[in-house]
Amino acid sequence: MAESSLELTAPDEAAMLSLGARLAHAIERTTGPLVIYLSGELGAGKTTLVRGCLRALGERGTIRSPTFTLLETYSLASRGVTHLDLYRLDAPHIDNIEDLGLRDLLTGDHVLFVEWPERAAGELPSPDVRVQFAFDNGGRQLACVAPTDRGASLVQLWVR
Ligand code: ADP
Ligand code: MG
Repeated sequence: MAESSLELTAPDEAAMLSLGARLAHAIERTTGPLVIYLSGELGAGKTTLVRGCLRALGERGTIRSPTFTLLETYSLASRGVTHLDLYRLDAPHIDNIEDLGLRDLLTGDHVLFVEWPERAAGELPSPDVRVQFAFDNGGRQLACVAPTDRGASLVQLWVR
């Protein structure tokens, strides 16, 4: 399958949450681990998309942005999800991204979301989907690229 790309629009926060919920349904129809990079400026909606996705996957508790903790992990009914935010990768308490054991997560049906993947270029598992967030008249635009077959079929299911 060739690399596929596609644009999505989220005019407001509710639309971003529902894109996240639709992504959750696509994830549930996908077998195997997924690595999803989320790029874009602060406030571009990356965490909001993950929040919508986690809610639809069944997370009932508080969904925190991992900006300070670096990483939040969720064990949900259908699969595990790890939400990584590398914005503060230069924070003093973080020694080495290798210590996070990310490669151990690439088994089963685990999903790894990474905000600010650029901060650890070369040290992260390679992505199945890259989503680039941009501001657009008060709303947001998402440009998705899927470099792997699994990522491409995920994106197809997402927009269906
Ligand atoms: P990021 O994780 O990219 O820094 P957040 O997801 O924390 O951004 O979102 C920052 C703010 O943008 C939040 O107040 C959120 O409600 C708002 N927001 C998210 N998605 C949209 C959207 N599609 N349109 C308008 N505002 C949005
Ligand atoms: Mg964020």
